[in-house]
Amino acid sequence: MTEIFTGNFTQQEPIPQDGIDAAMAVLQHGRLHRYNEAEGEVAETAQLELEYAEMMGAKYCLAVASGGYALATSLRAVGVKPGDKVLTNAFTLAPVPGAIASVGAVPLFVGVTEGLVIDLDDLAAKADQADVLMLSHMRGHIVDMDALMAIADANGLIVIEDCAHTMGAKWGDTWSGRHGVIGCYSCQTYKHVNSGEGGLLVCDDDEIMARCVMLSGSYMIYEKHKAGPPAEAYEDLRYYTPNVSGRMDNLRAAILRPQLRNLMAQCQAWNDRYAVVDQGLADTPGLTRIDRPAQEHFVASSHQFLLLDWDDAAIEDVVARCKTRGVELKWFGAPTPVAFTSRYDSWRYAPSDPMPASDRILRGVMDMRLPLTFSLDDCAMIARIIKEEVTAVGNQR
Ligand SMILES: *Cc1c(COP(=O)(O)O)cnc(C)c1O
Repeated sequence: MTEIFTGNFTQQEPIPQDGIDAAMAVLQHGRLHRYNEAEGEVAETAQLELEYAEMMGAKYCLAVASGGYALATSLRAVGVKPGDKVLTNAFTLAPVPGAIASVGAVPLFVGVTEGLVIDLDDLAAKADQADVLMLSHMRGHIVDMDALMAIADANGLIVIEDCAHTMGAKWGDTWSGRHGVIGCYSCQTYKHVNSGEGGLLVCDDDEIMARCVMLSGSYMIYEKHKAGPPAEAYEDLRYYTPNVSGRMDNLRAAILRPQLRNLMAQCQAWNDRYAVVDQGLADTPGLTRIDRPAQEHFVASSHQFLLLDWDDAAIEDVVARCKTRGVELKWFGAPTPVAFTSRYDSWRYAPSDPMPASDRILRGVMDMRLPLTFSLDDCAMIARIIKEEVTAVGNQR
């Protein structure tokens, strides 16, 4: 019997009831704008910031319109200027080089390893060409952050972390997003909390955070930011910092606050699913599973494996055969960008030198979402289907 999977890879869970109730309360009182507070009220957005700062052990937190907006705001706040080069991962998602381009800066791509993390040798080799590294923990894979920070410190690199897939994850004992100067998170539907769109950034530096708050569109009412720096921090820079409007609103914040309270349980549920898929793919000929170091306390809201050195036709065959059985694999190596998936050389506004060792890996990256609407049995079936199809195509190679 040929198993067919009928689940939906893009169906997330409903918003929890306490989030729905909080959203209804905001709709009823009508004060959706974050600075629209009744006498004595602390708006949902300001409360979300306080709660996330506390969770992350950060001095400050700012909620914004999207993860990509958080990244661009961070670049501006640390002083990136048009024409500057910014180091970033060759394996990442389009909004990351897009954030760099949005401030007129130029992405300088750093290679990827078989562990799907930034290549630290390549980073060390390129470190003298830029002042800022926008480090993307793409698909939740976290590089050895101790080794990375040693390279950054030795070269005076400012590190901004793209934690779109590492909210709730840690390297060693430290939350992802807390090694660099700023940590940026996404609250978009396919990340770890869901308000449709939205972003958060955390930071301990008074001046950088004051700039972020002003940039996000605080006008001169920045003192409403309970999770922001003291008023003195704004004294001069409020005259020199443009308003690049991108605030979060109280409706989204209301939806997010109950989800944050439940974040670690959700993270465990993702990892349980990941473990079933990953175990199920063990001993598949030609298929390379990704090594996860012991210090990497990841959150696996998606699964990746490699079909290293397979030719394009064979990989396309695997994708097509899995699709007919209901399993949606995304191939990062596809020569033309498809849906959400693209490679560094498809971002033609950002010219790059070829990186053959990284190209070999990217050509083999297969990617799949694992929404929490899938049961563990679903995950076991998905793994069986992939294993059978990879084995069948592999046998014909
Ligand atoms: C989703 C994502 C972003 C951007 O987040 P948005 O909230 O959609 O703007 C940035 N980096 C990575 C790796 C992502 O997956």
